[in-house]
Order: sequence, then structure tokens, then C-alpha cells
Amino acid sequence: MRPLPEAQQDVLAAVPSLPVEEVPLLQSSGLVLAAPAVAPHDVPPFANSAMDGYAVRAEDVHDAPVILKVLEDLPAGYVAASTVGSGTAVKIMTGAPIPDGADAVVQVEDTELRNGVVWIGSSVTAGTHVRAAGGDVAAGTRVFETGERLGAAHLGVLASIGLARPTVRRRPRVAILSTGDEILAPDVAVLQPGQIRDSNRMVLFSLLSELGADVLDLGIVRDDADLLRATLDRAVGEADAIITSGGVSMGEYDLVKTVLRDLGQISFWQVAMQPGKPFAFGLLHGTPFFGLPGNPVSVMVAFEQFARPALLHMMGATYLFRPRIRGRLLQPARTNPEKVVFLRVNVRWGGTGEWTAELSGGQLSNMLSAMAHGNAFAVVPVGIGSVEADDEVELEMFTWPELRTKAEVLDG
Ligand code: AMP
Ligand code: MG
Repeated sequence: MRPLPEAQQDVLAAVPSLPVEEVPLLQSSGLVLAAPAVAPHDVPPFANSAMDGYAVRAEDVHDAPVILKVLEDLPAGYVAASTVGSGTAVKIMTGAPIPDGADAVVQVEDTELRNGVVWIGSSVTAGTHVRAAGGDVAAGTRVFETGERLGAAHLGVLASIGLARPTVRRRPRVAILSTGDEILAPDVAVLQPGQIRDSNRMVLFSLLSELGADVLDLGIVRDDADLLRATLDRAVGEADAIITSGGVSMGEYDLVKTVLRDLGQISFWQVAMQPGKPFAFGLLHGTPFFGLPGNPVSVMVAFEQFARPALLHMMGATYLFRPRIRGRLLQPARTNPEKVVFLRVNVRWGGTGEWTAELSGGQLSNMLSAMAHGNAFAVVPVGIGSVEADDEVELEMFTWPELRTKAEVLDG
């Protein structure tokens, strides 16, 4: 058996980087910068008001209450025609540029406007309610480095600096297929004895969508060498990576293995992990190939440990793995000391200042419902044969689901 970290190293070392291109900002969500993002100008681009109120000279309102003459009314998007001199003010809206001469804003709540003059009820110091030019991002700043994965706030920041076509690595196109004569599409009404429905392709489709990949769905391929070879040929021609499930274990009908061995360059590993031990990896004419096991939980674990970090690496991301936290496992668990064991657990914030985890269901590798009911893997390292109740474990969060029902919110 190969140690998991060693297998992960081999995968990351082998996968190529996707090509670099410029894409419209609205198509860049989830992609990774391939060049630093440098701000060509300040954000905000000009000093502006943080409040609706009156732009004043702080020294004029030092002895508030005072009365000032209102020179004009300044909405956001316009520049004041007048200069704020002694004894005057400009009525200003949030986001409007601070007029020349003014150095502070009195919020509208502390004022009263009457017949062209404003009563100022409170004093302010210079700079109050003024957002400085460049206060968020100064011109010339490298806001994001190469390798940063773009999320919602990143897109907003790139927009604010006018980087409308960020330089990123291309969105990966990933081919998926399921293997097995027993596997049928999910919409088949009646299963004959021996048949099951295809869970793995649904799982992979969703995992890849979450990652921001485009999925090329090659369906279910029967255990037929020619069919499989033809399908993989198509995948090599059209995809940046290929992910299959099934057919990589020791069984007699393990065709993926046979076909791939012919195509060469693929290694079949027994990885010291549970679930997900049998795993095939290599390059098919340069295209990374991930041969995941057949059992659905193994598929998810192997995807998380191999395919997801590898795809993120191909996309150019600096950070590749899901976050791990530490918490207490509430039940005891026996584990195989020869392998890294990924227990399916449900992690909750205890309210006692710590995370707690409970097994989320049956722990066999075909029991996918325990993955659906869980949100994390409790990762039990090699060399540990059992975890006692209340022992601290590492928890790899594979999802951070929403909490709090409407009823809970309404109840306060
Ligand atoms: P295999 O590695 O092909 O021998 O498959 C191992 C186990 O996973 C068998 O019980 C298969 O029936 C099951 N399996 C394989 N592919 C799928 C799939 N797409 N969806 C659900 N179960 C599967
Ligand atoms: Mg099979």
C-alpha cells in the first residue's frame, strides 16, 4: 500500500497547468488569477462623503450649534460647483465628492435645514465622515497575487479597479463517466435483479460544478473494453481531465484497469486510506486521468483527496485542500491502523466553545446517505486503531451548510 501523502504528492507533481487567458469579469467567478491584480488608480477614486449630511469646514462648527449658509445640493455622481468657505456648507449625499474647502461632514441627523441655511447641532473634527481617496485600495497596490481564487468580493474589487478582463487559467473541462454492467440511469423506473442506479456520476457532476469546472458527461459505459476505449478516446480529445468510477479494484471484470494498462502511463495504486483504497492515476496522452473506485463514498473521499486538489492546482490555485478544524468525536470508533480513515461525521458548534462531531450514519463505503447527512470527515491518521468517545480528532469540512430555520430567527 502507498501512503496517502506520497500518492497525493505524485498526483500534484504530474498534473499540468491549464492555459492562461483573459476572460470577462462575469465569467471569472471560481477561476484563479494567473497574474497579480494591480490597481491602476485609487479606490475610492476621490475623497467622498460616508454620510448624507453637510460638508463643512471643521473649524466652522467647532462651537456648535452654529448656522451655515447652504451653497448647493450635491448628489452622488456630481462635483460641487462651489468652494466651501467660512460660514458655508454644501448639502451632500453619501458617495458624493467632498467639495473643495470642506474637510468634514456633519450627518443629516444632527442638522436642520431652513430657508437656505442649516442649523448644525454638533461639532466634528477634520476628516469626520470623509472616506479618503485610496482608503480601500491605493493606486499601484497589488490587490491579489497570482494563485488567488476569485470569489464574490474579489469580482467586486476587480470591478472597482477597472480590471474588466482578469488574467486567469482556463475553466477546466472535466469528462466524467461511470462504468459497470449493473449501473443504470437514475430515472430507470424498475430495476432488474442485480442492477443499481448510477449515483457516482451525479456526485461527480455536483462536486465538479461546485469547483467551477465545466462537465462533459459521458454517461454510463458498460463493462466492454472496446466501448470503454472509444469513450476514453473521446474524453482525451475533448477534456482537460477525465474522472471515471468503478473498475479499478481487484475484481475479474475490472475493465478500466485492463483498457488503461493497454493505453499505458497509468498507475494502479492501493492507497493506505479508507475508504477509497484502489485508485488509478496517470496521463492519457497528456490528459490527467483519475480512476476512482466504484463505491460512492470511496468516490467522494478519493475525489476530495486527489481530484479536487489536482484540479485546483491545474487551475493555478495556491491553496488546494479543504479546511480542517479540531473537535471532539462524541462516539468511540474502531479504525484500521494501517490506513488514514475518513469517518463520515456531522460537525456542530457545541455552544461550549468547541466543535463536536457525531458519526452521521453507517460507515461502509457504499453507504452514501451518511455522506449526505454529514458535513465533514473525521480524519484518523495511520497508526491509530481506535478513537475513544470525546477524543479530539481532525475534522475536514467538506461542506459548511446553512443553519437556523425561519422559525428560529422569528423566535429570536
Ligand atoms: P467496482 O469497483 O466496479 O467493482 O465497483 C465497486 C462497487 O461500487 C460495486 O458494488 C458497484 O456496484 C458499485 N458501483 C460502481 N459504480 C457505481 C455507480 N456509478 N453508482 C453506484 N454504485 C456504483
Ligand atoms: Mg464495476
